[in-house]
Amino acid sequence: MHTEDPRYAHPDDGFPAQQQKQPGQTEQMRPTPDHGEDSYEGHGRLAGRHALITGGDSGIGRAVAIAFAREGADVAIVHMPEEQTDADETLRLVREAGRTGLGLAGDVRDEEFATECVLEARRALGDLDILVLNAGYQHDVPGFAHLDTEAMRRVFDTNLAGMLFSARAAFPNLQPGSSIIVTASIQSFEPSSGLIDYAMTKAAQVAFVKALAEEAGPRGVRVNAVAPGPIWTPLIPGTGWDEDKIRNFGADTPLGRAGQPAELAGAYVYLASGEASYVSGAVLPVTGGKPL
Ligand code: NAD
Repeated sequence: MHTEDPRYAHPDDGFPAQQQKQPGQTEQMRPTPDHGEDSYEGHGRLAGRHALITGGDSGIGRAVAIAFAREGADVAIVHMPEEQTDADETLRLVREAGRTGLGLAGDVRDEEFATECVLEARRALGDLDILVLNAGYQHDVPGFAHLDTEAMRRVFDTNLAGMLFSARAAFPNLQPGSSIIVTASIQSFEPSSGLIDYAMTKAAQVAFVKALAEEAGPRGVRVNAVAPGPIWTPLIPGTGWDEDKIRNFGADTPLGRAGQPAELAGAYVYLASGEASYVSGAVLPVTGGKPL
């Protein structure tokens, strides 16, 4: 961060028109998102921990991977095979921090992969005590009558079924002190008609976090969510929004701008670390001032 004033902590002059197919690629984005590459300083808050981050190749997941590694954790990331270039860059940054970085390519909609990737991360890292369920998909719904069945199923299968498969695979072996963190959304609480199916999955993720926290607490495992507002990641040019919507992305927040992935990392570090030892079943907003 270059200034204390949060309105100007990251320059935002509006975003140029751009479209991508999902999953999007970081290098095609203008401007390039800030994942904390040049700013995040670790303080050993996650020393000796072992994390798996789904969707860890780009966007919020990449910022979390960088922060976790600089805080002392080994990091496995799950990504789609098409995103190998993004994954390689994230793993390079994890290894540059002196930690083990493991890439797992596949599709979390596939029950076998979403289960196996968790078991493989545990095997390869030697343990697993932080699970960040962050992979997600959204698409523009230009009107409810035009809701596309295939896209809707992709939303549900990625954001809900994939999340449940991986959480279920990890849960039995999580030891006391472990932490599950779900990337929910402001859409969980303030749904937009143009993201109707996505908003439903994000609301369901909050129900999942609260319900699982009840079962996990007596085992010493905490379960929480982060609810981002508008964040500049490859998901955004991949949503199918028009030029105006991209240009003004995030401008309607009280802070007047979109957030950068780097601005999310601290929330995940906090929830994963001992600093949050009495926090479970919670949703932490990082929304540029929009209330949940
Ligand atoms: P992103 O495109 O960088 O990350 C999404 C990730 O999900 C990608 O890395 C992709 O590999 C992964 N993914 C999607 N479908 C997958 C599948 N079937 N199998 C495996 N991996 C899959 O975008 P992001 O904005 O960083 O998204 C991360 C999370 O943040 C998502 O859950 C998203 O819903 C949530 N979120 C984003 C915003 C925002 O404005 N960007 C706001 C609120 C919530």
